Amino acid sequence: MKIICIGRNYAKHIEELATEKPTEPVVFLKPNSAILPKKTPFFIPSWSNKIHYEVEVLVKINRVGKYIEVKFAHKYYDEIGLGIDFTDRELQNKLKEKGLPWEKAKAFDGSAVIGNFYDKSKFDLNNLSFQLHKNDKIVQDGNTKNMLWKIEELIAYTSQYFTLKKGDIIFTGTPAGVGSVKENDVLIGLIEDKKCFNVKVK
Ligand code: MG
Repeated sequence: MKIICIGRNYAKHIEELATEKPTEPVVFLKPNSAILPKKTPFFIPSWSNKIHYEVEVLVKINRVGKYIEVKFAHKYYDEIGLGIDFTDRELQNKLKEKGLPWEKAKAFDGSAVIGNFYDKSKFDLNNLSFQLHKNDKIVQDGNTKNMLWKIEELIAYTSQYFTLKKGDIIFTGTPAGVGSVKENDVLIGLIEDKKCFNVKVK
């Protein structure tokens, strides 16, 4: 399986990082070795000084598709979830400045937290609230109504470049409120009142 990630999909997050509002979705990939195994702490890599959390709504692809039209995109997923796109922000900024690929900053081992998935029919996907709690404080409070590109547009867009396969996961971008983690932080993700993950930082 592969993990397709979308960057800069919420206007307020673009503002907080002072980056440019894109005219098309920003896309990058994480390999399956980036997945943090369930019930495993996230270990801050020895080479890193600044890891940021980014909570994101996840979409699990349920069948093969290529050049999917927006109007048919709903058929390509049944479940949504929540995860974290861990990012070495300092390294990403350095790579960005030089126009280099972001993988070392975003696709390293453990950088993809993938929480529980839920049947999408239980939710209004265009008005879905989700949160990240850090040590019992809400640090990110998002709603999919603020996405620049909606889930089905992202499926259509990315499938032009990458054949989507069953089990692939799309990270749909993070809302405002990203910040750094330190040892012993506890990160809990919720979609409405449903708990999706609980990750300890080591
Ligand atoms: Mg992200």
